[in-house]
Amino acid sequence: MSAKNIEIKYTNLFINNEFVDAVSKKTFPVINPATEKIITNVAEADKADVDIAVAAAKAAFARKSEWRKLDASARGRLLDKLADLMERDAEELAKLEALESGKILGYCLFCVQHCVKVLRYYAGYADKIHGNTIPADGGNFALTRKEPIGVVGQIIPWNVLLIMITWKLAPALAAGCTVVVKPAEQTPLTALAVAALIKEAGFPKGVVNVLPGYGPTAGAAVALHNDIRKVAFTGSTEVGQKILAYAGQSNLKNVSLELGGKSPLVIFDDADVDEAVEMAHMATFTCQGQTCCAGSRIFVQAGIYDEFVRKATARARQIKIGDPLEYGVDQGPQIDQPSFDKILRLIGTGKAQGAKLQTGGDRFGTQGYFVQPTIFSDVTDDMTIAKEEIFGPVQSIFKFNTLEEAIERANKTEYGLAAGVITKNIYNALEFSQAVEAGSVWVNCYMAITTQLPFGGYKRSGIGREMGEDGLQGYLETKTIVMAVKK
Ligand code: NAD
Repeated sequence: MSAKNIEIKYTNLFINNEFVDAVSKKTFPVINPATEKIITNVAEADKADVDIAVAAAKAAFARKSEWRKLDASARGRLLDKLADLMERDAEELAKLEALESGKILGYCLFCVQHCVKVLRYYAGYADKIHGNTIPADGGNFALTRKEPIGVVGQIIPWNVLLIMITWKLAPALAAGCTVVVKPAEQTPLTALAVAALIKEAGFPKGVVNVLPGYGPTAGAAVALHNDIRKVAFTGSTEVGQKILAYAGQSNLKNVSLELGGKSPLVIFDDADVDEAVEMAHMATFTCQGQTCCAGSRIFVQAGIYDEFVRKATARARQIKIGDPLEYGVDQGPQIDQPSFDKILRLIGTGKAQGAKLQTGGDRFGTQGYFVQPTIFSDVTDDMTIAKEEIFGPVQSIFKFNTLEEAIERANKTEYGLAAGVITKNIYNALEFSQAVEAGSVWVNCYMAITTQLPFGGYKRSGIGREMGEDGLQGYLETKTIVMAVKK
């Protein structure tokens, strides 16, 4: 059975609640990664469009604007309305995301449901954002106010676009900011569908603006803009470093970065091997391996190592590859040609550097960016596949002996986004959780990401946190007000 017939309604930039052409009138193609064919062409934003969108967002943020005068509870209701509309259009949004990103439809539906929860969580927060009264020395009356940071730029990756755009929009809007979004060039259609729902929900014009375009042009113009007070970026570590530099070169805007990872999952001898295989499989292969917190280094203790490798290989061989819009398919294509080429190059380094190829190791089929689910065992820490983020369906299995060794090797990376441990021994779980340098640690589970919990990276995996209360704080300034009390 197939879920096609997808209507593409929006292909223009979204500024001031209107869909408009780019100033240059230029467009760029959106490619279906399953067929390598053009789906449609979309207006291409550049600096001139960013300037217009930032001016719209700035006007929407002006003192006494409609948005600034809204009660905080009314901002919450708008977010709730957006959640209702996403729920209404769940299937349409999921199909669109599956079409342009190559992720399977079932996963895309899960993404929409996740977004609805994130919107509702931050909707509830909108009228619960407050400061403190503080007993300051000197007897003055002192208080803090939490205020929205202003116009925010949000630069979004393609891998889970709907989730990423929601993680950024929901706290920013709950806080009262206005926003210019630059979605990844591979997945603009889903972002524009969300833009249409923003308008339908009733957000005032200029509060959210969505500008499809390329990174070095539109993205850089956002990060360099002097009227943008914060840029929230999710993407590669390499581009994250540029974003930080752009902030320094321009107006010292606040920066939050959610970047890459090389996350370890450590499995001890006392684990149930079948359960561990399933968890590691999910950790590695979800979304074709294109998740920032993918379990891309699987450390297995020596006593169960051979059994684990055998069973993990058998499990990977069960994956059904195909059109992501066909029901029953487990794995779609990778996002694009450069990503496909990079994954195959890294697989090549694994073979050349002596990792043992258990299954996969090549492209799948002759059309579309499909890569065979691949498992390498006997991977050592010095190999390229142990160090570089692959962002593809490649499981690398390492052998270890002791807890101390597992901790030291898990931390032997410049990344620090997430980590997992599977064991029945509470002491090993606690020791590992405390010692590992990662923003999220999952014990006997993996990718347990929910809206209430802060998410973000240590080391080169990022700066700041999204989700939970921490995520909201990233869109707020603290103002201290001190009033003299008549003695
Ligand atoms: P990318 O860095 O190439 O692109 C991300 C976004 O940045 C895109 O919108 C792109 O157009 C834009 N961009 C590119 N160059 C730019 C520039 N010079 N100035 C401004 N913007 C620019 O990353 P990608 O390939 O789209 O995404 C994959 C990466 O994202 C992986 O490394 C992955 O781990 C990471 N990621 C991290 C998280 C997280 O929460 N930590 C979540 C998802 C993805």
